[in-house]
Amino acid sequence: MASIEVNPSAYHYQVGDISITAVMDGIAIRPIADGFIVNASLDSIKQAMNEALLSPHQIAITFTPVVVRTGRETVLIDTGYGDHGPATAGFLQSNLKIAGIDPTSVTKVVISHFHADHICGLILKNGNVQFPNAEILVPGPEWEFWMDDGEFSRVSGDIKSRFQLVRTVFAPLHDRLTHYNWGQEIVTGLTALEAPGHTPGHTGFAVCSGTERLVLLSDVTNHPALFVRNPDWSVVVDVDPDLARATRYRFLDMISSENLNVAGFHFPFPALGRIAREGDRYRLYPSQWMPLSKV
Ligand SMILES: [Zn+2]
Repeated sequence: MASIEVNPSAYHYQVGDISITAVMDGIAIRPIADGFIVNASLDSIKQAMNEALLSPHQIAITFTPVVVRTGRETVLIDTGYGDHGPATAGFLQSNLKIAGIDPTSVTKVVISHFHADHICGLILKNGNVQFPNAEILVPGPEWEFWMDDGEFSRVSGDIKSRFQLVRTVFAPLHDRLTHYNWGQEIVTGLTALEAPGHTPGHTGFAVCSGTERLVLLSDVTNHPALFVRNPDWSVVVDVDPDLARATRYRFLDMISSENLNVAGFHFPFPALGRIAREGDRYRLYPSQWMPLSKV
C-alpha cells in the first residue's frame, strides 16, 4: 500500500483580540446513496453535488474543532473522533502540535453536543485522558437528554449504541464536568447560543471582541453544498428534524442579514466564511486563506 501523506491542517485567525485556531480532525467519506439525507430524492442530492462541482457519488464530511484563546484561557470547542472514528479522522492531536498548541495548556474543553465526532477526542479507547488540565463544559439540556435512563431504556439499535458511547466517554470525566446554559458567557467574549434540534441541547457560539464577531455554527448545518443550499434537508442524525430546520433558518437568516463571519464544524477546511441569501436559499462564500492571522 502506498504511504499516505497527511496535510498539516491548522489555521490561525483573529476576532478582535481573541485568537482562533481551526484545527482539523479529519474527514469521513460517505456514499451519497447511504441515506445520510432523509427527506430529499437521490436525484436532487446528486444535482446539488453537481451544482457544487463535487462528485455525485460520495462526499467528504470534515471535522474542524476550534481553539479560542483569550488573555487567560485556552478553550477547545469540540474534540473530533480521537481513536473511535474512521482511519481518515483522529488527527486533532497531531494538528494541535503543528499549530503550536500543547494539549496540557487547554484550560477548558467546551462541547457543542454529544455526537461521536464532537466528544470522542476527550479520551482514548484505552482510557487515556487527552486534555488532562481542562475543565469540561457541556450543555445542560444535552446532558439531561443523553443521561436520562428512561430515554435510554426506550431506544434501540444504533441509537442505543450512541447513548452507550456518550456514557462510556463521560464516565471517567465526571469530576471535571460542568454544565453551561444557553446565553451564558463561558469565558470573556465566548457566549453559548441556543441551537436545538440536531440534538436537544445542541449549541452554537458567538465570539465577540471589540466590533468584531464570529458565529460558530457547530452542526446547525452539515456540508454547506447540501445544507446551506437546501436548508430544508435533514441529516439522518437530527433528533428533532423540524426543530433543527427552524434553528437552521434562524441562524442562516441572522448570519446573512448581518453579514457575520461564520465557522461551521462540517464546512470544508478552514471551515470559515460568510453566507449570502439567494432567494429562498443560501450560499457559503469561503474566506480567502490568509498567510498571517492578522493583516
Ligand atoms: Zn457533527
